[in-house]
Amino acid sequence: MRIATDDDLNGRVESNTEITRFTRAFESGGVTTYWSLMSASSRECAKIAHMPTPVVDAVDIGARIAAARDELGLTQADLGRQINVDRTGVVKIEAGTRKVSASELVQIAAALDRPIDWFVVESPPAIVSRRQDAAVGGHSIAFDRLIERLARDVEFLERDGILPAIERPRLQMPSSAEAAEAVAAQARELMSLGDGPVHDLQRASEGIGLLAFALDVEADGGDAAYVSLGDWGVALINGAIDPGRRRFNLAHELGHFLFDDAYAPEISIASVGSETERIINAFAVHLLLPRSFVAQTWEEFTDHRMAAVAIAVRARVSWSAVCGHLKNLGFVNDAERSDLANDPPGKADFMELGERWVSELDAPSTPPDYGRRVLKGYRTGRLSVERTIELLWGEVTRADLPDLSEVPLQALRREFDPLP
Ligand SMILES: [Zn+2]
Repeated sequence: MRIATDDDLNGRVESNTEITRFTRAFESGGVTTYWSLMSASSRECAKIAHMPTPVVDAVDIGARIAAARDELGLTQADLGRQINVDRTGVVKIEAGTRKVSASELVQIAAALDRPIDWFVVESPPAIVSRRQDAAVGGHSIAFDRLIERLARDVEFLERDGILPAIERPRLQMPSSAEAAEAVAAQARELMSLGDGPVHDLQRASEGIGLLAFALDVEADGGDAAYVSLGDWGVALINGAIDPGRRRFNLAHELGHFLFDDAYAPEISIASVGSETERIINAFAVHLLLPRSFVAQTWEEFTDHRMAAVAIAVRARVSWSAVCGHLKNLGFVNDAERSDLANDPPGKADFMELGERWVSELDAPSTPPDYGRRVLKGYRTGRLSVERTIELLWGEVTRADLPDLSEVPLQALRREFDPLP
């Protein structure tokens, strides 16, 4: 194993692309050097102990190539054509009997539409278990890949000290849907939310360690997904669906996070399969619509529908969730719930109330403190332009990033944390 030298680091700044860095590192010292270059700073040696298990074994790399190729429905000959290797060469690479060169791996990653590290670094354990769980289904491949990429990114940022180590708060999973109300109150307390509606749920979740990313998958690509990474949690919220449901889905994933689940085998959050999912939905709705807030708003209006509209718009919760919750809390009976559900509000209803629907989790959206820390990583030279843009999922473009040459070194120096 070889540790990155100053020359490598200078080369990194000059070439400034992940691929060049990868090629140089992989050829000169394998995966370990790749990781140390990914986190270019003078503190590499201390970091190596915390790195994920590299898959240096050629058989492992080959198996991953075969799996990614299968998933895309390509034959070995198809892949060979794209990377200029004959079919026999691909067979040998996949079997691990022919060593794959760095430049071939770069081409393979591009051909198979995967990040390079997918082939050379072990996935976070929760991702591996999630992949192997037969109950995980109904999501698109795009959805599964996004949650995996997010998990790897967060693991990388924590390892590099760009995200701090945290201690996750844990709550006892409620034993029934009825018991969920009290647990939701505990969760509100953890996040220092009062008795009112929860606004900016993404920020509140991040404050206790759940990083929620809203990204556009496809409308039928799934609602949300969650994986645990030690103390941090990562939630992917499908930004292509209705805003009220997006918040509900995040509240649901927050339940999985607080109840210390390794991952969530979500199929569709709305059509509940198991008792556990039913309880977590009850937790989510109580979190977003605390009884005291509902009762107070209910009292404000003589017209039940107007009251329900006010609850939905103020708490930014979907109409169907509000109608169901009003019935569960005993404000309306089943017939009235059904009448209300069939008469959803429009813009004019909000206007009449003097309210406006404020949308949250519009894609792409990354958690606010995460964004701040990634930009700090960029300013202090720990993240390249390409990596920074990638980590911010299109929320900023290259043109938005400050030019580092304009930042005086003295101003940066204060931002560096003292070395351990
Ligand atoms: Zn779930």
